[in-house]
Amino acid sequence: MLNQGIGSWPKRRARRTPDRIAVVHEERTWTYRELHERVLRLAHALRALGTGHGDRVAYLGPNHPAFLETLFATGAIGAVFVPLNARLAAPELAYNLSDSGSTVLVHAPEQAEAARTAAERSGVRERVVLEGDGPPDAVGQARDGALRYEDLLARGGTGPLDEAVRPDDPCMIMYTSGTTGRPKGAVLSHANIIWNSVNVLVDTDLSGDEVTLISAPLFHTAGLNMTCLPTLLKGGRVVLLGAFDPDHVLRVIESRRVTYMFAVPTMYDAMAAAPRWADTDLSSLRSLVCGGAPVPARTIDTYLARGLAFSQGYGMTEASPGVLYLDREQAAAKAGSAGVPHFFTDARVVLPDGGDATPGQSGEVLVHGPNVMTGYWGRPRDTEAAFTGDNWLRTGDVARTDTDGFAYIVDRVKDMFVSGGENVYPAEVENALLGHPAVAECAVVGVADAVWGEVGHAVVVLKPGAAADEAGILAHVRGALAKYKVPKSVAFAESLPRTASGKVAKPSLRAAYAHSGARPGARP
Ligand code: ATP
Ligand code: MG
Repeated sequence: MLNQGIGSWPKRRARRTPDRIAVVHEERTWTYRELHERVLRLAHALRALGTGHGDRVAYLGPNHPAFLETLFATGAIGAVFVPLNARLAAPELAYNLSDSGSTVLVHAPEQAEAARTAAERSGVRERVVLEGDGPPDAVGQARDGALRYEDLLARGGTGPLDEAVRPDDPCMIMYTSGTTGRPKGAVLSHANIIWNSVNVLVDTDLSGDEVTLISAPLFHTAGLNMTCLPTLLKGGRVVLLGAFDPDHVLRVIESRRVTYMFAVPTMYDAMAAAPRWADTDLSSLRSLVCGGAPVPARTIDTYLARGLAFSQGYGMTEASPGVLYLDREQAAAKAGSAGVPHFFTDARVVLPDGGDATPGQSGEVLVHGPNVMTGYWGRPRDTEAAFTGDNWLRTGDVARTDTDGFAYIVDRVKDMFVSGGENVYPAEVENALLGHPAVAECAVVGVADAVWGEVGHAVVVLKPGAAADEAGILAHVRGALAKYKVPKSVAFAESLPRTASGKVAKPSLRAAYAHSGARPGARP
């Protein structure tokens, strides 16, 4: 009875590199042997709680070794891991728990309140808390009815598990960010995760000596599947950070001699704006990977000035997530591109009639490959709509390629609007707005207009202490953009509405401005 899934990775690594450090968290480290032993105990304990093949085990909390232990232990018994977004509120958590049918919930003490409420409103039978706040009684029940994680581990056996897990068995249900609607649970098989890791290892120079900083949340596909799991597969070391604090990130890069990290553009911007930025020794860094959203040219320049080039990735939860990748060697020659498809993955850009776009033409990106999900959990209709008849995943993103086949992500299909018969992609307009020295953040949405059908409306957050008015901002972008792309109005705001994943919530911005007529200077 062989386990061919990722739940067997700690055991396989312990066989090959038992004494290498696998995980670093705060001041503590765990070798691969220790990781394997803890995973084995937890797997036995989960079984003793009645969890079996195909059952769902959810995790709620910040980046912590227990996240990885729960993931691997769940996989070791053929159960399915459900990482939850730690920024969600109790009703949203209850939705994800019910939707996935999770029966066990492992959570951090910070989330105890939300976890208890959400568990009560869903089918969760057992809660496991990382560090209970009261003394454990004889059976390890913390006072609020949750089991204590360490007690559970102590009770777990250490014998062989004998669970047959095939590559096509579901490994995790990972929820999409909910940028365009309700989050959907993408079912990712062990094979999906393995192939994505193989893509990463083939296309990057990630090595067994890697010290990978996990600053992005593990409950997102990029933090977990693009960086953490490929590093552990290779026998490298992951340094887990909790809540994102740019100054702390810089300190850890220096003290742990971090070589590899992934972050989204806003995180890199925050690091470059942190007080320690200028004085931090960044010489250990070999690879900075950026993805999840378009990387503003300004961010690229700031890091280049420190001798650091980004490699860039484009992907989505449904593709486990890597689709396109741009090596840092190509970063300068192909600035702004998200690269070419990962080694074992294929992508096409198609026109609305289904035909392939020629270089320079914009169309929707379709993806095919062993890393693409089998479907959404419990949503046959969404699954059917997500794939073409010949089984290519529709990404909902617009891109064009150059004559060398490098893809440039233009924007989401759903964010595009049509002004005077011309397609406008807000991301391009936002990039132009970010070129204004006073603009810290911005978002552009299409709003109804009697003359043009739709026109762009910009919402701008100014840098602290900076001053700018609508006329000045529009004058700045007029030189850079065709007339139909220039927003018709600008509103100033203190901040932009964001989803729990930190992405700008365009549907709520569109709703806020739909009827206001987007008057100049109007506030959301
Ligand atoms: P939902 O599907 O629930 O609306 P979401 O699409 O934001 O949410 P994710 O799977 O986390 O959920 O994000 C994938 C999306 O992020 C892609 O479809 C794309 O729109 C965007 N994205 C990812 N990488 C890049 C990139 N390098 N450049 C531009 N956009 C990117
Ligand atoms: Mg999506």
